[in-house]
Amino acid sequence: MVDLKRRFDVLVIGGGNAALCAAISARRAGASVLVLEGAPKFYRGGNTRHTRNMRCAHDAATDILTGPYTEEEFWQDLLLVTGGETDEELAKFMIRESKDILDWIVEQGVRWQPSLGGTLSLGRTNSFFLGGGRAMLNALYLTAEQLGVQIIYDAEVADLHIEDGMFLAAHLKQPIDGATEIRASALVAAAGGFEANIEWLKEYWGEAADNFLIRGTPYNRGSILKMLLAKGVQDIGDPTQCHAVAIDARAPKFDGGIITRHDSVVFGIVVNKHAQRFYDEGEDIWPKRYAIWGRLVAAQPDQIAYIIFDSAVVTSFMPTLFPPIAGGTIAELAGKLELDPAALEKTITDFNAAVQPGTFDHTILDDCRTEGITPQKTHWARKIEAAPYLAYPVRPGITFTYLGTRVNKQSRMLMKDGKPSANMFAAGEIMAGNVLGKGYAAGIGMTIGSVFGRVAGREAAKNARN
Ligand SMILES: Cc1cc2nc3c(=O)[nH]c(=O)nc-3n(C[C@H](O)[C@H](O)[C@H](O)COP(=O)(O)OP(=O)(O)OC[C@H]3O[C@@H](n4cnc5c(N)ncnc54)[C@H](O)[C@@H]3O)c2cc1C
Repeated sequence: MVDLKRRFDVLVIGGGNAALCAAISARRAGASVLVLEGAPKFYRGGNTRHTRNMRCAHDAATDILTGPYTEEEFWQDLLLVTGGETDEELAKFMIRESKDILDWIVEQGVRWQPSLGGTLSLGRTNSFFLGGGRAMLNALYLTAEQLGVQIIYDAEVADLHIEDGMFLAAHLKQPIDGATEIRASALVAAAGGFEANIEWLKEYWGEAADNFLIRGTPYNRGSILKMLLAKGVQDIGDPTQCHAVAIDARAPKFDGGIITRHDSVVFGIVVNKHAQRFYDEGEDIWPKRYAIWGRLVAAQPDQIAYIIFDSAVVTSFMPTLFPPIAGGTIAELAGKLELDPAALEKTITDFNAAVQPGTFDHTILDDCRTEGITPQKTHWARKIEAAPYLAYPVRPGITFTYLGTRVNKQSRMLMKDGKPSANMFAAGEIMAGNVLGKGYAAGIGMTIGSVFGRVAGREAAKNARN
């Protein structure tokens, strides 16, 4: 039984990658550490449970990475996807530190495996967790427990006692062993974003947010973020910015995970509920574009769209949990999708007529394109003509939000007046907006959590001892 009456050196709120990296790092630096995970044990680990890989800089190929990925290349990729909306100093710091994380995370019991085929071509840049995010988490939890980190589940924090930028205590929603107040000398907030809080999303997205599906944990409701911002911590990031992909409209409201994501857009066309195309499905290679389709679908009427393709390409991409909806004719398919058959037939006829001859290669920006229609499909355009015709209905799948707490290179939160907090640190999704103003490069969520988690734990331990 954990003695909750004592004062801990470091309190970590959250139970995902960022929290565990912080807890292990603080404990290794000599601190007594308590982790409060709001979810029950079975659901521990938030969105981290769903992850597969992490993006780290490295100067040479490794056992599992096919070639070098320099700090400069990582930085250029980040600049590109964010359109420059990133804190350069913090981002470069994170990229530098990410080099070390490849070995550090292995020292904490995590194992790597080579990149899976058909998963966004990440074999050179991203290291895959052997057994996926759950196995990764299990290793981190085991290491934390063996080091003497105290962990409590079903321990949702409902309030924070903060005075003049100094954390004093956390209050549990439900008492545990008679205790509701948890005292610690330093706080690491690693409690995720607010993606599972539909009411909060509605403040920025309006009623459309009712049609969003949340790809990960229902426990990331942003309560800790909200409390910190209300108690004087400086915010960072645009609240409408998030990572959002197109996922199957038949997926559950929460926690559908990776198997509901569709990677078939470049092999067909995408239409809205009026059977109209609305964006260039072949704009750029899929790893650089998959993360824009959640927002694109969110902007369509009723936040629904349909990826339409034919039986000639059905084995060209990773299958998802849900089978495609099939029709022997375009009209039959339209009927099953509840689209206007004449409108869908016209869209596909016009598209097929606009397809130019070319040599198809989905790994490069090939010369298969359309001419004379709007929007154009600038690469990988091939006629949709091999029955049966197939479709996936898709909705915006929100992965995580970017609004967060401002931090410095110590992962220390900054207060609204610009001064560093006396003893509050943040890591992971809750501060992702420092690095990600918008956009996304696959695997960077885990980089943010690991790098800043490790730093936050170390600095919180140091802070607690002084
Ligand atoms: C389907 C899916 C696939 C993904 N794949 C990848 C990938 O391959 N690579 C990658 O880099 N990123 C990926 N991501 C993003 C990645 O999951 C996150 O960036 C990362 O896991 C964030 O880690 P975290 O520790 O900050 O948050 P989380 O892992 O979400 O942990 C937050 C924790 O806080 C707890 N919590 C929340 N509120 C409270 C409270 N009030 N009191 C106590 N505890 C609380 C939650 O229960 C949870 O345990 C994916 C996300 C999803 C949804």
